[in-house]
Amino acid sequence: MFDLLFKEVHCLFREETLDVGVKNGKIEYVGISGSAPPAAETVEAGGRMLLPGLVESHIHLDKAYLLEQMGREATTLEEAIQITAALKRGYTREDILRRSEKVLAKAVAAGVTHMRCHAEVDPIIGLSSMETMLELKRKWEHVLTLQIVAFPQEGIFKEPGTAGLMREALSAGADAVGGIPYNDLDADKHLDFVFGLAVEFGKPADLHVDFSDDPNQRDILKIVRRTLDCGMQGKVAVAHLTSLGSVSEPEAREIARMIAEAGIAVITLPMTDLYLNGRADKEKIRRGLTPVRLLREEGVRVIVGSNNIRNAFTPFGRGDPLDSARLLAQTAHLGLKADVGLLLDMVTEEAANALEIDGYGIRPGGDADLVLFDAFHPGEVLFEVPGRIGVWKKGRKVASSLVHTELSVFK
Ligand SMILES: [Zn+2]
Repeated sequence: MFDLLFKEVHCLFREETLDVGVKNGKIEYVGISGSAPPAAETVEAGGRMLLPGLVESHIHLDKAYLLEQMGREATTLEEAIQITAALKRGYTREDILRRSEKVLAKAVAAGVTHMRCHAEVDPIIGLSSMETMLELKRKWEHVLTLQIVAFPQEGIFKEPGTAGLMREALSAGADAVGGIPYNDLDADKHLDFVFGLAVEFGKPADLHVDFSDDPNQRDILKIVRRTLDCGMQGKVAVAHLTSLGSVSEPEAREIARMIAEAGIAVITLPMTDLYLNGRADKEKIRRGLTPVRLLREEGVRVIVGSNNIRNAFTPFGRGDPLDSARLLAQTAHLGLKADVGLLLDMVTEEAANALEIDGYGIRPGGDADLVLFDAFHPGEVLFEVPGRIGVWKKGRKVASSLVHTELSVFK
């Protein structure tokens, strides 16, 4: 007998309604509705959409909700970095915990069961953010699986002492090596260090790359070369990559093909990219996004993340990955029916593949990490901001988030 049975659910890319049976935290059964054996607990879904738990592929918990602490506002990337670096000197463990858990609670209520966060590592805060993220990873493990990237936000060689701290962060348990070549003295030296550390510790690399509208900013080419040299195909992700959006189409396609060949995943961050890029354009203002459609046409895996929640880089956001997917639909010309499935895939299966999440997906043997929407079609899930009837982590219900609307005028 199953512990839990979802009756009559709709899943992505399947026409017929299905029953999904769960036992001991794992999915044991997926079959046509009406054929499943009984269960201790049954959820009558009535044709509603069941998705695997959402994946937040790129977020900064340690600098979320800094907006209220800012003495002045930012209108450029440089200002955002400066303002945030100054605030960082005042971080305490309690402060980081409080702001991070505010995001985690909202994300879980939205249906997130897996998240990759970037913990800042530098001489200003040492390993305190890293240690706080490790603490959160343990505390929340039954609710959400947290991957931690050791992230040298202030550069590695611009801030002496960072290299040693990065190595310590990896020894302490970081899941991936972060990087940010555009904020260091020498991109080559920076990337050699990042890839060297990734190879040394056998971890993936996840870098912030080419975040501008400048078509000549092309650190991605250096990353492609190192990915191939180090045999790290499928183990490298790059975020932003917005300068590629300003490159001429034939050249952009050529670069995209190289990215695809190196098996590098691109994480687009529309909330931040649309907000901070294009600001120097006085007319014909560019959107400042990576060319999502072009990348996909050339075979690149593209996923979407939130990046920041309510800070100098991004003064909005609620921790719901579907907000970013919806924004991308509107700004990357992805509004057709087929695009809806693609966008939902970007915050579920495709993200899980890019982040190498084991046991993911609605299939026998998969972890019972699931979210049931109060919606009957993929388009409703993405565009109607529906309630989440339930969010399950390894078969245990961890949240629900229902929307109550009442039209009183005709009563
Ligand atoms: Zn980021």
